[in-house]
Amino acid sequence: MRRERSVNEMKIAWFNIPAHGHTNPTLALVKELTDAGHEVTYFSFEKFRKKIESKGAVFVSCDGYDLNIDAKDGGNRVGRDLAFSIELIVESTLAMDGLMERVIPEIRPDLIIADSMAFYGKLAAMKFGIPYVCSNTTFAFNRYAAKYMNQGMGNLFGTLLAMPKIKKQLKRLQEKGYMVKSFLELISSDNDTNTIVYTSKEFQPFADTFSDKYCFIGPSIRPVEEPVEKTADKTVYISMGTVLSSRKMYENCVEALRDTNYQVILSMGETDAEFTDLPENIKVCSSVDQMAVLEISDAFITHCGMNSVSEGLYFEVPLILVPQTPEQLAVAKRAEEMGAGVMLAETERSAVDIRNAVEQVLGDGSFKAAASKISKGFKNSGGVKEAREFLEKTIYMSR
Ligand code: UDP
Repeated sequence: MRRERSVNEMKIAWFNIPAHGHTNPTLALVKELTDAGHEVTYFSFEKFRKKIESKGAVFVSCDGYDLNIDAKDGGNRVGRDLAFSIELIVESTLAMDGLMERVIPEIRPDLIIADSMAFYGKLAAMKFGIPYVCSNTTFAFNRYAAKYMNQGMGNLFGTLLAMPKIKKQLKRLQEKGYMVKSFLELISSDNDTNTIVYTSKEFQPFADTFSDKYCFIGPSIRPVEEPVEKTADKTVYISMGTVLSSRKMYENCVEALRDTNYQVILSMGETDAEFTDLPENIKVCSSVDQMAVLEISDAFITHCGMNSVSEGLYFEVPLILVPQTPEQLAVAKRAEEMGAGVMLAETERSAVDIRNAVEQVLGDGSFKAAASKISKGFKNSGGVKEAREFLEKTIYMSR
């Protein structure tokens, strides 16, 4: 018979997808949990092993499993094409099924935490009857907050057309013991799902429409590892994130800022842009310590990944918002409506547009003031301590 464990020694299985933006925010919480004596088994991918193990978790590699999650190709389609999204979820769940069958009974977790896109984690919780908490690294979405993503009638029509395909996919899950009744049950979180959201109540759109099962803990900010030297009066940081390639955007930014006195730091990830005749004021890197750079920045040209925007605002840096996906658009809209940045539409991203936007946010103190206000809200949130207590309470209540 299963031994009752005390809340002081809970076992958690954590599932995540292979993305920095979904992994980074969880790390401080993993450390908070392991420091408190809890055992965290973290299912992720080799390139994140070191980061995860350094927080005291046991790492389980999912690299050998064909999850078909390719953020580069699929990122744009997921969310826009429902049948495609469901197929992806079903494929990944079935691919992981053997592993789940083997390890879940072995670990016997008290709780499963899964990223909002690691559906196989949520489904495993359902299949094995284990309490589940959703780890939500973007805004929490319900029908009110979804307005920020331009979800309209077009999507509804697409959903109706996709229904036969979706039903077929759900049947494949049911045959393996995942008793999902509808696609909504599969893809959406509702007010009954315990959910950790890595932002503040103030920054979350329509925060008061979410139940108290939603725990808004504020963004998780990594410590600065090595400070970056500020070499000019104004520093502009540019990053389009770690997933999408943005060659044209980087080229336009360099063009826009080459004849300025600003210190410009550009992190271009794996984008294959080559810059000739780079002026002295512009430094191009493949990756930076983003906290260290933001600490000295006065403006941030960002693709509006949730983490980047949160980190920028935490350091009170006004933003030039250039979203590429619906999810990033939602983040951009929120930052803009709170006065902390200027959004550039897809047709307004020339070198001249970028230069004007940078001058606008540097020249008008209201952007900085709005960023500082949001930062205060982040710093007043409960952080990882509140999240740990929330998880402990969830387990306690489930016994
Ligand atoms: N990041 C970093 N160094 C870089 C570029 C990005 O540390 O040079 C980090 C950044 O701090 C953030 C994450 O990578 O935590 C990117 O996540 P985000 O949600 O902003 O965008 P994504 O890459 O998922 O689109």
